[in-house]
Amino acid sequence: MTETEQQMASLFADLASIADPVSLSPGQRLVLQERATAIFGFPPDVDQLLRQPRAWLIPLLRGDGVVPSLPFLWRLHNGVIQVGLRNTGPNSAFIGDLVRLIHATPFPFKQCPVCQKVFVSQTKKKRYCSANCTYRGIEEARKERRRPQAKARMQRLRAARKQAEAVKKEGEVLAQRALRRRHTGKPLAGAEIEEQMRGQLKQRQQRKLQKED
Ligand SMILES: [Zn+2]
Repeated sequence: MTETEQQMASLFADLASIADPVSLSPGQRLVLQERATAIFGFPPDVDQLLRQPRAWLIPLLRGDGVVPSLPFLWRLHNGVIQVGLRNTGPNSAFIGDLVRLIHATPFPFKQCPVCQKVFVSQTKKKRYCSANCTYRGIEEARKERRRPQAKARMQRLRAARKQAEAVKKEGEVLAQRALRRRHTGKPLAGAEIEEQMRGQLKQRQQRKLQKED
């Protein structure tokens, strides 16, 4: 791209980034008009300037098809065809430049996945509009990648905890069983021995009484 094309492309990119042209202040519109006038060499139709780049570039960048059904106006100027729009006349001649840039290979416009800003870049690698968005984008992607890992880690942790609980429960059951076994095999406690002895004594006394009878 020549330097002029570069300037045009970044102006179109900036214009396409304006989601709500109505919100622009008169001062902002004037700044845009002056910038465009310096680039194109004529005062452009600002409304068309604010509408057309966005209307074409955003759907293209989204991967959608665009039907440029506009009433084009061709004018031969110093051996070069100027493409404008019939309704707005020569003040829309920038449309031709926009069409030319859209046809450039590789496509010079990109949309930042972080801030949605349209920017100019013909290098394949550049995905983000700025260093700031690159950082945020990479950080987001890292978090996104980590999410399934974190989920898996959580699942492993939960499974391990469940298993530990089961082992603990089993241990308790075993311990209780062992305790019961020990109780039944163990010599009887003092009170029980007393009870048993009293029973034996009673039986002996009864037998003695029976003999006497
Ligand atoms: Zn960005």
